[in-house]
Amino acid sequence: MTAIAVSDVKAGIDPTGVGEPMYELVRELYPICRSITGNGVRETLRRVSEHIPLKIHEVPTGTRVFDWTVPKEWNIRDAYVKNSDRIKVIDFKKSNLHVLNYSTPIRKRMSLAELREHLYTLPDHPDWIPYKTSYYQERWGFCLSQNQLDDLKEGLYEVVIDSSLETGNLTYAECFIPGERSDEVLISCHICHPSLCNDNLSGIALSTFLARSLQDPGLRYSYRFIFIPGTIGAITWLALNENATDRIKHGLVVANVGDSGKLHYKKSRRGNAEIDRAVEHVLKHSGSPYEITDFSPYGYDERQFCSPGFDLAMGSLTRTPWGRYPEYHTSADDLSLVQPRYLADSCKTYFSVFDILENNNYYLNQNPKCEPQLGKRGLYRTMGGNVESEEAELAMLWVLNLSDGDHSLLEIAERSELAFPAVRAAARALETAGLLRATDRPARASP
Ligand code: ZN
Repeated sequence: MTAIAVSDVKAGIDPTGVGEPMYELVRELYPICRSITGNGVRETLRRVSEHIPLKIHEVPTGTRVFDWTVPKEWNIRDAYVKNSDRIKVIDFKKSNLHVLNYSTPIRKRMSLAELREHLYTLPDHPDWIPYKTSYYQERWGFCLSQNQLDDLKEGLYEVVIDSSLETGNLTYAECFIPGERSDEVLISCHICHPSLCNDNLSGIALSTFLARSLQDPGLRYSYRFIFIPGTIGAITWLALNENATDRIKHGLVVANVGDSGKLHYKKSRRGNAEIDRAVEHVLKHSGSPYEITDFSPYGYDERQFCSPGFDLAMGSLTRTPWGRYPEYHTSADDLSLVQPRYLADSCKTYFSVFDILENNNYYLNQNPKCEPQLGKRGLYRTMGGNVESEEAELAMLWVLNLSDGDHSLLEIAERSELAFPAVRAAARALETAGLLRATDRPARASP
């Protein structure tokens, strides 16, 4: 994968250049059977670590994490159901979704009636296999298409789930990219779903690519990417890092970033944090449809990051949100649902957000009494009619007017309705010409 500095975002990212390698990673990870613990997670992280440096953490079963306990570790080798002709009618090796995730082991012959109690289908989508889990109640089961179920005849079935649920560890990983400051941007993705592409391989691929691409040595913030199992992983991470959460200034939960739907941002619990305003600004100026919703205590791991005891400035930037596409949590969330161009578009959007966070400075106008004469500094056109230079001049006038030390560049962009890159470019030109001086952000400032 190519490294892209945040500052290159203004030049635009070549969508074909970044989409394909992300898609390749999705394709590579797709067959692995993941869960909230176990070797599928380790294997996934091992492959991700071929692209970015990862620190792997193993947290023992039984560790208390706030109101929760790290569960037993689950591993699975094989599972199937054979009919009386010894033909496999359900086969884990054909799709790992066939096993209820976290199924306890079983090896037994039983009637169809008894087996049926443990079968899950989607009658509305008779070709699809549902994705189901039972992490916190020990049970076993199989998921299959309704058509498969309808084909099962009365008779004796051999049921085998060769799994283990034993004392072990919960595995997660971090990739830390130090910046000039210890203040951090936290990017979180879940790694616990088996063969499902949009939810959540797209998030793993995008996080990996973002981490790999943030190689700009001049980064203002430090960036921490965490690859964690959903819910219990976020709770575990927060429990182990409770005293370090003050340094997290902004964050995003990544998921569902590869489908064709429009971009969707779910705000942080705070609702008006800098990250909320930065994402809203990027989406507003993207030229594409988008949707923004307020925080709700349901969804992905923003539930934990935005719990009242932490209340981190973290939103969730996705394409179609969880549960709002029919393929969600089914075998139809496959390699055809995710496309390189949508992964690339999501990547570009994330970079545009980082670009704002990195460059959202405060300035002081060094010539505040009346407008400075821009023309003599080569900053003002001598002839009219060029739309681009008109926008650049307008941006300079806004930046000069509002650079009283109290307004950030993002606030200036919001108020002027100009896109952030134009405002940032104007500030740079004015600073080079000696008309602006960077200043500390005021203590009250949120954006
Ligand atoms: Zn999910």
